[in-house]
Amino acid sequence: MTTTIQEVPMLIGKQWVHPTVAEFGSIFNPSRGQLIARVPLGGPADVDAAVQAAQKAFASWSVTPPTKRAGYMFKYRALLEEHFEELAKIVTLENGKTLDESRGDVRRGVEVVELACGIGELAKGESLPRVADQIDGVTMREPIGVCAGITPYNFPAMVPMWMFPIAIACGNTFILKPSEKVPLTANRLAELFLAAGFPEGVLNVVHGGRAVVDALCTHPGIVALSFVGSTKIAEHVYVLGTQHGKRVQAAGGAKNVMVVMPDAEPDSTLRAVMGAAFGCAGQRCMAGSILMGVGETASAVQKRVAEAIDALKVADTSADPSAQMGPVIDAPAKQRILSYLDLGQKEGAQLVRDGRKLPGSLPSEGYFVGPTLFDNVQPGSKLAADEIFGPVLSMMRPQNLQEALAWANRSPYGNGASIFTTSGRHAREFSLGIQCGMIGVNVGVPAPMALFSFSGWGRSFFGDLHVQGHEGVMFYTRQKVVLSRWDSEYRRTQGW
Ligand code: NAD
Repeated sequence: MTTTIQEVPMLIGKQWVHPTVAEFGSIFNPSRGQLIARVPLGGPADVDAAVQAAQKAFASWSVTPPTKRAGYMFKYRALLEEHFEELAKIVTLENGKTLDESRGDVRRGVEVVELACGIGELAKGESLPRVADQIDGVTMREPIGVCAGITPYNFPAMVPMWMFPIAIACGNTFILKPSEKVPLTANRLAELFLAAGFPEGVLNVVHGGRAVVDALCTHPGIVALSFVGSTKIAEHVYVLGTQHGKRVQAAGGAKNVMVVMPDAEPDSTLRAVMGAAFGCAGQRCMAGSILMGVGETASAVQKRVAEAIDALKVADTSADPSAQMGPVIDAPAKQRILSYLDLGQKEGAQLVRDGRKLPGSLPSEGYFVGPTLFDNVQPGSKLAADEIFGPVLSMMRPQNLQEALAWANRSPYGNGASIFTTSGRHAREFSLGIQCGMIGVNVGVPAPMALFSFSGWGRSFFGDLHVQGHEGVMFYTRQKVVLSRWDSEYRRTQGW
């Protein structure tokens, strides 16, 4: 018996199309290494068709009252809630997250749609009567045009929804280029979007890899680009996009530190550290991948983490809802992560738990790497410096908070960092001294929350205005200042 493998369509206007392409990408269930779909790797012609559809839609969508746009967003939010579990299952199928992690991915995305429902309030301008003699001043924020978003594989629902709901609520039209590794979630989000009644062409989905990305960066019909992915590609998109006159926000990779002070509360700290290091199999830009046990606490912290690793259930997430950690995305990712296990040993770090040793019950074709713990990782080593993007936790042993800060601030990245302490003074010193955008105090993953803009520093972000929250609205709008003079009979009679 032959099974037909689904071919993932693109959305141009309101049509789901199967363009003729030379190449397809393969979508796997990462728990089983099993092919589940094929995605067309599009090119400039597909981008051009999407731009034309989006430009046509922009003419009327940009002048649709914000209250009406919000009305569609409310319907979309209701549909996302109705299909919440279905979406979470799609995320688990193509990404390999546990079902709970997939629910978290969808939930964070729905929260951005909720934010977008308040666009009338968010996009309001300011006014000042009599800013000068007989002059009234008003600012207004207007949509900018056709925007595009390029997203990574690790949060198939949340990251696209950082972008298109806010852009569209602001009156723009949008082209989404999801990761070619996880296109199924994006397509389902787009189907529900159409079902909410948004006019055709307001959202378009083009699939592909580099050729589509470069066409989006250079197409004259696109005015703004949002990118989330690795640092190398973030920089490429930022440079190419800005060279072509576009507004660009590009979020990149990370290497996030968790500092455990001797006065930290042990149980809640352990839970947070485990979640941050091994949640989503370490494939999070906010993953805590360096654990600094400060001073005399380090040995106790190492022992507790090692014991917790032994109790962590790694399983086929597509079949076992009690799995606590799933596979990584694909075979190359697995190979890359395993190469860091060899490298760490060569660098002289102590391998406390070895992710190559896996339970025999796991599907042999799945892309599993077990939770790994290194200790005595040295500042300046590759284990300490590189984004591994897998379930590998590297322990370092600074003598005090000042040394921890100095080591952490050597990183060229600047996404997130956390401290675990019961001392307000330590928390304050850390929050002020650390060079990055998102800080956790007794929180392992200072995760993006829709109501706040999500900010990386250093080589974790290229651009000015960050994603979602208020800065998201500023990114997807531009400001006009109107100064008016209206002569007034009343003024004259009052002698003003
Ligand atoms: P990636 O950079 O490989 O891919 C991201 C996007 O870029 C995809 O849509 C992909 O098609 C495209 N792309 C890949 N190679 C390209 C090339 N050579 N030229 C043009 N486009 C290309 O990232 P990934 O592996 O999908 O995701 C993991 C990375 O994303 C990690 O580095 C992680 O830290 C980062 N990330 C960052 C954030 C953040 O907010 N800073 C959030 C999530 C993920």
